[in-house]
Amino acid sequence: MKRSPVPARPQIHQIVLPLSGEPAYVQVYLIEGAPLTLVDTGVRTAESRAVLEAALEELGHGFDEIERVIVTHAHRDHMGLVQSIRDAGADLECLVHEADAPVVETFPEDVRRRTAEMIPLFREYGVPDDLLERLHAERIDSLSIDEAEAEATHVDRVLREGDRLEWKDFALEVRHTPGHTPGHVMLEDEESGLLLSGDQVMGQAMPHTENFYVSPLPDPADPLQRRRRFRGLVELRRSLRRLRGRPFKILLPGYGGVVRRADRAIRDTLLFYDVRIQRIDRGLRHLAAMGQPVTAYEIWKALFPSDPIGTALGDVRSHLLLVIGALDCLEEDGLLVTERRSDGVLTHHHC
Ligand SMILES: [Zn+2]
Repeated sequence: MKRSPVPARPQIHQIVLPLSGEPAYVQVYLIEGAPLTLVDTGVRTAESRAVLEAALEELGHGFDEIERVIVTHAHRDHMGLVQSIRDAGADLECLVHEADAPVVETFPEDVRRRTAEMIPLFREYGVPDDLLERLHAERIDSLSIDEAEAEATHVDRVLREGDRLEWKDFALEVRHTPGHTPGHVMLEDEESGLLLSGDQVMGQAMPHTENFYVSPLPDPADPLQRRRRFRGLVELRRSLRRLRGRPFKILLPGYGGVVRRADRAIRDTLLFYDVRIQRIDRGLRHLAAMGQPVTAYEIWKALFPSDPIGTALGDVRSHLLLVIGALDCLEEDGLLVTERRSDGVLTHHHC
């Protein structure tokens, strides 16, 4: 029998489920008591489903007994099996934050739209057409994995900051922590100092942040007429600064085991990004000192390995997104001036 990772909450069980790529696994949680609840589900593969079923069985439960699924955020490894559990006979309530609920209900439509929007985003930040095409092709491949490993399901209740989810003898409070996705939530048990932290603060891993247009039209309030965007890194920083210094004792994340030095992990995640933002800031200063204002693409070329082939394209994409996210943070901090060139590309320099 699996023991709970938190002695004060013996009803919470961590279950490790296999993934098809890297990382090789994801952690989900079963909370016993009424209602019998799963926090996240793993992906919709035969292997993951079998491991989840076996783990539940070991704890004396079947799929058809699940009464509630809380999805920390709308990624395939967290929501992949909700509909399958329903199809196995569970009369369950699915709970997702309101900002991620549309993605869960239409999966993978939004993911497909965001994938297509990557092209105008990167173009606006100066990425040349040949690299854009290769990046897009790589995303189309990963989209087919999304489509295979998760399916849309109905959201019965949307979650908001401060919502209380109750069991007979304890409760979890919803902490809306956007960054990794717009509707990412953590679940806090204030009494025991426990935080189910999803993919926003993990053990031995750093969260990615999403960055995509949320409107097809230029923002009338923006002098540069940029389209409004979800700026994940700005949001992640804000979310984590709010959590920093809180007396959490233990984190139960989506990856990386059980985190016992909770505040340290929150600070390390912030520091990880602060260091990268500073590095990109220095790169910007260095390039700008040579003359022209620079593009995000030029900063990326100066700081990261260039001319990538094949398998490294995923890294290229995440590094470009990191540069754009860092520029967003520097702009948020009032340190950056952005302008638009006659070809539509955005350039940057310091105030
Ligand atoms: Zn995720």
